[in-house]
Amino acid sequence: MPRPIEALVHVPALAHNLQRARALAPDARVWAVVKANAYGHGIERAYDGLRGADGFALLDLAEAERLRTLGWRGPILLLEGVFEPRDLELCSRLDLWHAVHCNEQIDWLAAHKTQRPHRVFLKMNSGMNRLGFTPTALRGAWARLDALPQVDEISLITHFSDADGPRGIAHQIAAFETATQDLPGERCLSNSAALLRHGVKNDWVRAGILLYGSAPDFPEHGIEHWELRPTMTLRSRIIATQTLAAGDTVGYGSSFTAPGPMRVGIVACGYADGYPRLCPTGTPALVDGRRTRTIGRVSMDMLEVDLTELPDAGIGSEVTLWGRGPGGSVLPIDEVARAAGTIGYELMCAVAPRVTMRGAED
Ligand SMILES: *Cc1c(COP(=O)(O)O)cnc(C)c1O
Repeated sequence: MPRPIEALVHVPALAHNLQRARALAPDARVWAVVKANAYGHGIERAYDGLRGADGFALLDLAEAERLRTLGWRGPILLLEGVFEPRDLELCSRLDLWHAVHCNEQIDWLAAHKTQRPHRVFLKMNSGMNRLGFTPTALRGAWARLDALPQVDEISLITHFSDADGPRGIAHQIAAFETATQDLPGERCLSNSAALLRHGVKNDWVRAGILLYGSAPDFPEHGIEHWELRPTMTLRSRIIATQTLAAGDTVGYGSSFTAPGPMRVGIVACGYADGYPRLCPTGTPALVDGRRTRTIGRVSMDMLEVDLTELPDAGIGSEVTLWGRGPGGSVLPIDEVARAAGTIGYELMCAVAPRVTMRGAED
C-alpha cells in the first residue's frame, strides 16, 4: 500500500469560485490565471473546473500548449510575454496572446515572420517596478507596436503591488489613467485582491488565488467572507500513536515537552510532501474532522498531532492538513500558511510530486 497521503482537487469548487469572480464583475471578461500548473492544482484538473472562463492566463509556453491539447480554443495570454524570439513562432502557431513589457520584445516582434498578426497586451509599470514600460515610455512603445504589421489589437495591462493591503491601489490607478487616457484598447488591471476588495473591473479581470479558495487578504478576511470554497485538500492518516508523561518530548530537537499526560498521533505527512517545516507547535489540523493542533517539529515524512482531547482517534484516523475534512469540516489553507509565516499561494504550489493528486467530483 502506498503512503496514505493524497491531495484532492475539488473540481466543482473551482467552478463555484469562478462564478464568484463572474458575479463580482458581470460585465468584464474573466481570465482564469493558471500559471504554476494552476497554482499547483494541475492544469488538466483545473481545466475541468475552469473551462467556463473567457480565457486562461499563464507564463509557461509548455502550459499553454497543454491547454490547446486539452481542446481549449479560446484566448490564452502569456503574462510575461515571450522569453526569446523563437517563442513567437509558437504564439503564431497556437494563437497565443502575449504581454509586451520591454523594448526587446518589440524588436523581436518586428523581426518575426508571421501570416497572423498577434494580439498583444502592452504592460505599463504603474509602480510595482517589476515588468512594464514607465508612464513616459508607454506612448512610444504603443506607437511602435501600432506601426507593426505583426501586431493586431493592442490592449493595456498593469499589475497592482498592494491590492491586498493598506497602501491600496489608488496611486497606481491614477498613474495608469494619466498615462493611457487617450490610448485606445481594452484594459486589464485587476488581480483577485483588486476585484474582491476594490471592485476594479475594466474589460478583463485576472482571477488567480480566489479561484483556488484562498483569501488574498487573510487574516483580515477569510474565504467564508468572500464566499469562496476550498479547492485543494491535503489529507493523510495516523500511522502510530504515543502516550506521553509529563516531561516527555516529541520529535527532532525535542522542541515540544509534554506538560502532563498526553496522547499523540503520528501522521504520514512531512516537509518532503510539501507541508511547511516552519509550521510550529499549535498549527491547526483536523483529525476525523475535529480540530486539533500539531506538536513538535515537522520532519521529512511525519508530523505529530495532539490527540489528548480525541480519545476515539487512533491508527487509520483521517488527518486533514488543509482543505475539506469529513462531515463538512473545513480547514482553510490560509490558516496553515499563516502559522508557517507564508501565504496560501506558496503552500498550494509546493505540494510535492510524490503526493498523488486527483480530481474529486465534490
Ligand atoms: C499571478 C498574477 C495574477 C493573479 O494574481 P492573484 O493574486 O492570484 O489573483 C494577476 N496578474 C498577474 C500579472 C499575475 O502575475
